[in-house]
Amino acid sequence: MSQSSPQHFIVIGNPIAHSKSPEIHQQFAKQAQLQICYNRQYCPDDAASFIAVVEAFFNGGGVGANVTVPFKQVAYQLCAERGQLSTHAQVAGAVNTLMLKESQIYGDNTDGQGLVNHLLSLDWPLKGAKVAILGAGGASRGVALPLIEAGIKQLTIANRTVEKAQALVQQLGTASPIIDAIQPTYCALEQLEGDFDIIINATSIGLSGDMLPLKDSLNCHYAYDMMYGRELPFLTHFSDKGAEVSPGYGMLIGQAALSFKLWTGASVDLNALNEAQ
Ligand code: NAP
Repeated sequence: MSQSSPQHFIVIGNPIAHSKSPEIHQQFAKQAQLQICYNRQYCPDDAASFIAVVEAFFNGGGVGANVTVPFKQVAYQLCAERGQLSTHAQVAGAVNTLMLKESQIYGDNTDGQGLVNHLLSLDWPLKGAKVAILGAGGASRGVALPLIEAGIKQLTIANRTVEKAQALVQQLGTASPIIDAIQPTYCALEQLEGDFDIIINATSIGLSGDMLPLKDSLNCHYAYDMMYGRELPFLTHFSDKGAEVSPGYGMLIGQAALSFKLWTGASVDLNALNEAQ
């Protein structure tokens, strides 16, 4: 594809220096033979500053923006009040990808589908699967609908604060009839037990290096941690019990590839990329 000048993209966050998105998207652009400028954009942690950054970026001709911690909910509010939202963003209550559509700000959430695409690339069977998600924060909320669309048949959400798991299950049911149809259940993290096909750690405990308080009677064939790039006791625990395990770097790449496709129309061959973990 020929281009006269590079298209401009940013990732907005606080902190933002650690973000790998610019390097990931430059790899995508190289593969798609596109010239892009993709920069990290620090933003003070308040909604007004975030909106000012987004408006300045798109008014200046920017094509697409990724949104990371702590702005995914603020981005959702902005699109809900002044623009448009994809179904996945609506159900997730969070936006990680922004662009202009019909001159309006449009928000999508590619995190959950990025996870599903990674699980499928690992050949983990999703159709008919019995799945547990640990955690009831933004990441947990964002992956429920894509997992159910991919064919899982049972979903349990377990969280340290059980009231949050209960509220999340209720909210998801009202947000999506597809989710309501499989009647997800919830419980406290330390009460979760039995055999699952897949257990996904969507808590942020990996940041501390601590282990979750899980029962010995909890087992699975496959264990996935959304965290990556460090020792993960959750994965060691289930690997020692014989499960196949994976950290979440592929999810990061997967959500990025979906954002890139939304913005540029170009599909990325993820197998051809260098693993930059
Ligand atoms: P969040 O909204 O802050 O939610 C954090 C969750 O972790 C809550 O359910 C919280 O439980 C639980 N938690 C925190 N500390 C815990 C502990 N010591 N023991 C047990 N549970 C604990 O965060 P998030 O946005 O959902 O993100 C969760 C994780 O997913 C983060 O590590 C993030 O980096 C990762 N993530 C990865 C990707 C990727 O592309 N790989 C994408 C999105 C997110 P309470 O409700 O009880 O506080």
